[in-house]
Amino acid sequence: MAELIDGKAIAAELRQEIAADTQSLVSKGVTPGLAVVLVGEDPASRVYVSMKEKACAAAGIFSDEHKLAADTSEQDLLALIAQLNADERIDGILVQLPLPDHIDESKVLEAISPDKDVDGFHPYNVGRLVTGNPLFQPCTPFGVMKMLERTGVELKGKEVVVVGRSNIVGKPVALMCLAEHATVTICHSRTRELDKKVAAADVVIAAVGRPEMIKGDWIKPGAVVIDVGVNRVGDKKLVGDVEFDAACRNAAAITPVPGGVGPMTITMLLYNTLVSAKRRSER
Ligand code: NDP
Repeated sequence: MAELIDGKAIAAELRQEIAADTQSLVSKGVTPGLAVVLVGEDPASRVYVSMKEKACAAAGIFSDEHKLAADTSEQDLLALIAQLNADERIDGILVQLPLPDHIDESKVLEAISPDKDVDGFHPYNVGRLVTGNPLFQPCTPFGVMKMLERTGVELKGKEVVVVGRSNIVGKPVALMCLAEHATVTICHSRTRELDKKVAAADVVIAAVGRPEMIKGDWIKPGAVVIDVGVNRVGDKKLVGDVEFDAACRNAAAITPVPGGVGPMTITMLLYNTLVSAKRRSER
């Protein structure tokens, strides 16, 4: 049976380290600050924002909340971002997505100063990742990499198969694995013979958003499986993109859903904010 990669435990350990580093930075007169901007009333976004605020408080990071009405104009939102870009207490700016339809999401993300872009979505930071010189890396894929590192999974020379090619998970995690010298295959909805591609992988990273679509018997014996997918089935149950029970029979190690990649995302947001504050303290 596969070893469970415990995202909750890894995230808790990292958050302790972040809190300790934050404390020592505060003692030097620099308090890391994260501005969180929420536009509208989307219930899931409200939950995420409140989780981020709580996580900041627990780590000793100052969180500056901006909850704006759903009919806030793009111009007003851009003005707020300009103000946060100039605010010296703020090391990171996070605009919770999705934004209401009347606001151009890419215009807003590009307005964030790249050196406060702790979500790593600004094209400048995407370019830095592509060229192998990252400044801020997007939180979910960065969390996947931290989990692999803390689990002692060496990527050099390994066959990594990433299923999914989104800008927030699939593409960046593929680039991060490439930077660790893996041989990376990116699969998507038009990929042929996905089962055979997955069966050749030493490490499978699934970021699709389809419940248990990656079958357990596709997994090569001894492979490592990272399941980023979060899918609600029925009223309450959450499952990943990988058929978990069957995959456990083949994999050497696997992340559960929930309790795998999920807790890492906010942890890496705190991490990026702390790194940004350290850069400020060195300026
Ligand atoms: P997107 O919907 O943006 O991307 C899904 C990707 O899966 C696309 O590239 C799509 O291909 C591919 N895909 C769809 N169907 C198939 C198929 N049948 N075979 C192969 N590939 C397929 O999703 P995200 O990347 O945003 O998220 C993926 C999952 O990760 C979701 O479940 C999401 O909830 C979860 N997630 C979890 C996070 C966490 O913190 N744990 C954070 C972010 C996401 P194509 O490009 O061809 O359409």
